[in-house]
Amino acid sequence: MGLLTRRLIPRKVRRLAHPARAAKRATKKALIPKTVRKAMWGVHVAANPVSSAGYALERSIFSKPKKSKGRAVVYRHGSCQAKPRTPEAAQRCRNR
Ligand SMILES: [Zn+2]
Repeated sequence: MGLLTRRLIPRKVRRLAHPARAAKRATKKALIPKTVRKAMWGVHVAANPVSSAGYALERSIFSKPKKSKGRAVVYRHGSCQAKPRTPEAAQRCRNR
């Protein structure tokens, strides 16, 4: 037991309780590319469906609901991958 009660403490608070762990996490984050980390997480989710379900529950409780007032307007230009949200930003983009 204790799994659910731990889940009910906001993640931020839990992080603050373990500064060493947070530092370790930060270095890991800096060293491992995002794509690799995503893949690692995918493996974790496949290996631990129960803990992922816990995370899903946690997210549903603590994450702010997404503002979904229609699709965000983006000002694309050409074949550029950037998605500027203002025409000014699109003008300023150097990838053209
Ligand atoms: Zn661009």
